[in-house]
Amino acid sequence: MVEDTKLLIIGGGPAGLTAGIYAARAKLDPILIAGPLPGGQLTGTSDIENFPGFPEPQAGMQLMENMQRQAERVGTKIVLDEVKSLDLGRRPFSATVSSGDEYRARSIIFATGAKPRMLGVPGEKEFLGRGLSTCAVCDGAFYRGKEVAVVGGGDSAMEEAGYLAKICRKVTVIHRRSEFRASKIMIERVRAMPNVEWELDSAVTAIIGDNARRVVTAVVVKNLKTGAEKKISVAGIFLAIGHTPETSLVKGQVALDEEGYIVVNERQETSVPGFFAAGDCHDRRWRQAVTAAAFGCSAALEAERYLTREGLA
Ligand code: NAP
Repeated sequence: MVEDTKLLIIGGGPAGLTAGIYAARAKLDPILIAGPLPGGQLTGTSDIENFPGFPEPQAGMQLMENMQRQAERVGTKIVLDEVKSLDLGRRPFSATVSSGDEYRARSIIFATGAKPRMLGVPGEKEFLGRGLSTCAVCDGAFYRGKEVAVVGGGDSAMEEAGYLAKICRKVTVIHRRSEFRASKIMIERVRAMPNVEWELDSAVTAIIGDNARRVVTAVVVKNLKTGAEKKISVAGIFLAIGHTPETSLVKGQVALDEEGYIVVNERQETSVPGFFAAGDCHDRRWRQAVTAAAFGCSAALEAERYLTREGLA
């Protein structure tokens, strides 16, 4: 099937869905390709208490379901499929999804987000999903009453450590420096928990497990100041070391920075006219649901202006 659209939105997180809400209300009849599991990174977050408009903490999944319902109610067509290839060299642009369907779009808002960064140490590939996780909220319950480790020193690591400390017997935070990127309030909350231990100035050098039983049994940690290595027994390891932008679809077609983030101006315009970006695929600085939503809004308003200006609306 080939479908023509004025505006194709790629990505079903806060940036894409907000773009959908604004574009649908502007009568652009947007089609949004949300991926097979829509909602983006927020679906893996427990309580969100910094999204304005909700005095009580919101479950990430619930917030995203609400955003999706809102986008659909105002007229966004949501497709649960994944874009496999994108051709920005022709007009209209062409996007092909897993089912083989092709979408021909006069403009695109690219809001694919980012994916968790990995350590690249021995044992990581073997035990991913079998003791090694990138989402405490998703997998923490499997480690109730057990000993686990969290790797990282940012807000995500503190959030994960705090969450796990409530359900696990012991949490060891492993961080490569002794200063933290995380905000003071987040660190203080975790520091106040009696079952959290800290391995600072330390790097993970290997993940050890029982291959036959497919379980993690320990993490090997090297102190970067002394060079000493030690093995810490854990049943689970949670990586919280940041993210990589999901921009491989547009590599070589749109200007990216040295880390692969899409380069945008203040109007969410990229190096390709009519192709806009919004959210974590270009934002390395804030990476918040509310800023992603705001970028999605700006991108939709600018896409509307572009389509009108070019006589494509
Ligand atoms: P981040 O701020 O980039 O922190 C990543 C952490 O992982 C840093 O401590 C970094 O160490 C470490 N790291 C990176 N690569 C590593 C490697 N290869 N090996 C070992 N350690 C590595 O990422 P984030 O914590 O995911 O946070 C992302 C954004 O989301 C931030 O803006 C944060 O404020 C926000 N956030 C907010 C909340 C909240 O407010 N509730 C919750 C989660 C996230 P170095 O410090 O040494 O570089």
